[in-house]
Amino acid sequence: MIIQLKRSVTKEKALELATQIGAIHLIENERQTLVTSSKIKEVNGVLDGLVEQTFMFDNDLQLAHINYKPEGRNVQIGSVTIGGDTQHTMMIAGPCSVESEEQIEASAQLMKSLGIKALRGGCFKPRTSPYSFQGLGLEGLKLLAKMREKYDLAIVTEVRDATHIDAVIEYADVVQIGAKAMYDHGVLRACGRAKKTVLLKRGFGTTLQEFVQAAEFILSGGNEQVVLCERGIRTFETQTRFTLDLCGVAFLKEKTNLPVVLDPSHAMGYAYGVADLTRACVAMGIDGLLIEVHPNPKVAKSDAAQQLNHQQFSLLRDSLPPIATAVGRIMV
Ligand code: PEP
Ligand code: MN
Repeated sequence: MIIQLKRSVTKEKALELATQIGAIHLIENERQTLVTSSKIKEVNGVLDGLVEQTFMFDNDLQLAHINYKPEGRNVQIGSVTIGGDTQHTMMIAGPCSVESEEQIEASAQLMKSLGIKALRGGCFKPRTSPYSFQGLGLEGLKLLAKMREKYDLAIVTEVRDATHIDAVIEYADVVQIGAKAMYDHGVLRACGRAKKTVLLKRGFGTTLQEFVQAAEFILSGGNEQVVLCERGIRTFETQTRFTLDLCGVAFLKEKTNLPVVLDPSHAMGYAYGVADLTRACVAMGIDGLLIEVHPNPKVAKSDAAQQLNHQQFSLLRDSLPPIATAVGRIMV
């Protein structure tokens, strides 16, 4: 249950009430707000006369629930706002991993030349094998920061675990929580305290309910800047890397107030399917895309098979605005 307290209730009083009823205290839009488990259907006694409005839910999809904020939440990605009252479909693109200055600069230049406002690139990679490239770490973050300065691009980069979360939060404009890290509650909690936008990817074995509950951890930690990212779930199919759950996307659009970004690159796992999938995603009227692009995919140190080369990506980018327009959206 979300309990919005009257404006006359001070922060100190709200904190005291939160302790008394076992709730999380938040300040939402400058209103003192208490959030309890949705299983609690009423809180009597201590709150009498202090409540402006309550919101009830069937399960712990609460702060992210569309009924709590029917207008949706505006979320900032660098200079661009997505979600809420905007109709933006934002392109976020770049290599899977930052590999060298030369490589990330070639990517940054491509994004700049295409008018794209956000550059992605992982520096702390959650690889399945310990023998694969693990990312450049802090050195990679510094390269991304350099690209932001030089090309005026928002930086989207992932956090693997709590050991380097402060550095990622410091350098990134958007902290990406990957499909594996989304189970890490240390990461979720740290992102709840952060004053940075968080792109939360759905784990490939995660139900929609578990996914939105992970988002609730961040929101209830005090960070309202959360974006959901569907990147494919694991099914019985082995010919594609994952299965992009577009039904799940329809659910998230209908039931949540958070912007939804799609990542067809990881879902497909092969460059050949990425362009068609991306166009299908844009036709769904989504808030953004996360696409892997590499100056020379053949030599990419991670996710080589799925990255588009610059020519493929430029052609794809050019094909998207009419589709966005057809569904009442603007490609950014
Ligand atoms: C990535 O974006 O490169 C990545 C590792 O994605 P995911 O966490 O979805 O596997
Ligand atoms: Mn990748």
